[in-house]
Amino acid sequence: MIPMTLAEVASVTGGRLSDAALADVVVDGAVEHDSRRVGAGDLFLALEGERVDGHRFAEDVSAKGAVATLATKEVPTAAIYVDDGIEALTKLASATARRTDAAIVGVTGSNGKTSTKDLIAAVCETAGPTVATRGNFNNELGHPYTVCQVRPETRYLVLEISARGIGHIRHLTEIAPPSIGAVLNVGISHLDGFGSIEKTAEAKSELPAALPETGTAVLNADDPRVAAMADVTDARVLTFGRGEEPSIAAEDVDPRDGRHAFTLRAPDGSARVELEVWGAHQVSNALAAAGVAHALGIPAEQTARALSGAPRRSERRMDVFTNPAGIAVIDDSYNANPASMAGAVRSLAALPAEGRRFAVLGLMADLEELSEDEHRKIGALAVELSIDRVIAVGEGTEPLAGAAGERARHVATQDEAVAILAEEARPGDAVLAKGSRYRTWEVADFLRAQ
Ligand code: ATP
Ligand code: MG
Repeated sequence: MIPMTLAEVASVTGGRLSDAALADVVVDGAVEHDSRRVGAGDLFLALEGERVDGHRFAEDVSAKGAVATLATKEVPTAAIYVDDGIEALTKLASATARRTDAAIVGVTGSNGKTSTKDLIAAVCETAGPTVATRGNFNNELGHPYTVCQVRPETRYLVLEISARGIGHIRHLTEIAPPSIGAVLNVGISHLDGFGSIEKTAEAKSELPAALPETGTAVLNADDPRVAAMADVTDARVLTFGRGEEPSIAAEDVDPRDGRHAFTLRAPDGSARVELEVWGAHQVSNALAAAGVAHALGIPAEQTARALSGAPRRSERRMDVFTNPAGIAVIDDSYNANPASMAGAVRSLAALPAEGRRFAVLGLMADLEELSEDEHRKIGALAVELSIDRVIAVGEGTEPLAGAAGERARHVATQDEAVAILAEEARPGDAVLAKGSRYRTWEVADFLRAQ
């Protein structure tokens, strides 16, 4: 946090101090809702969860040096009483965003927000103290939580912004107004929240629309729905993509072993990037990050070096490793939608492997009436790329197995998929585990430990 007295915290949140004598006590640490993370100088946010009630830990965190607890019910320690914990945190985030000089960067898109946010953070960290969304913590708690991590010395605040409906991004940009907004792509994901791809595009366009004239919109030139957002923003527009036209471009792309290399061409110069992160889609994400970096005044050469050194940070996204049994594994089991599933299957096909290639594919959730067709397309892609064995897991993936024909098996549970792998996968083989939340994690974990 930017240090505040408890009186200021109470005033910002509309809360009531448990004891007037606390007014001048300063919070100079962070705001934490997880009691295990609380340290001296922090403000503890007690949330009533479904299983655990944070208020139980007020004494605990007080003993660890927490200055006070933001509480919605009686606690025996120093407290600020508010009506709603998340609302109070959101107000604190808003106050923090207005008190910081840090450049605020927002990243949105259907695919690759977390990956790109991690790349942007890797570049920003080479230029100054950076706060970025932790993992995928971008929900109604995670967003204000991240903003409240900003300290006086913070230079860059990088926010993963996910759109859960029309008006949602606008709301988030009101809490912490970005000066730079990157839009990666508009695809079929979380369709249930929007109803159509046009609505999805409309929701995402709220990020460039919220930018000030002095800001910069970083837009994907290769996605026509994103490129069209140049019309909704007053900010300067930087485009990224392949080919001659975009301001930030990738030239001489070399797929290497799946970790791509390319020459980054930016308005201030060119430099070679050799990515550490896996997958063809990371070229586009890296270009978006380079666009943000350019907007921040970071030289292309420095950006290229930072992108090349950026490790994969967020779990279960294109995590490529060889397991103890000598099987090459792609754990991309975090989530799945048509674009990311196709990307992962392509990565499996590109992975150097002496043996056979297995794709264990779970459901792509939330596709509604497009579901059957999109699953069928993935099955057909696996055939086109000569994936040796396709294991489709769970309800809804039958069309995928059907389209993949003889090489495919449909099984009801992850346990069955694990049993097939235990029986068939040999050293030198390669296995991809991919599906929407939770659905192929067990398979990936089995492979990790095998
Ligand atoms: P979520 O909406 O779940 O937060 P996200 O937008 O943050 O997702 P990531 O977590 O970075 O996206 O990646 C999700 C999946 O999409 C991964 O399987 C990843 O490999 C794939 N992916 C990442 N970037 C792209 C991209 N530019 N285009 C297509 N797929 C991508
Ligand atoms: Mg994410």
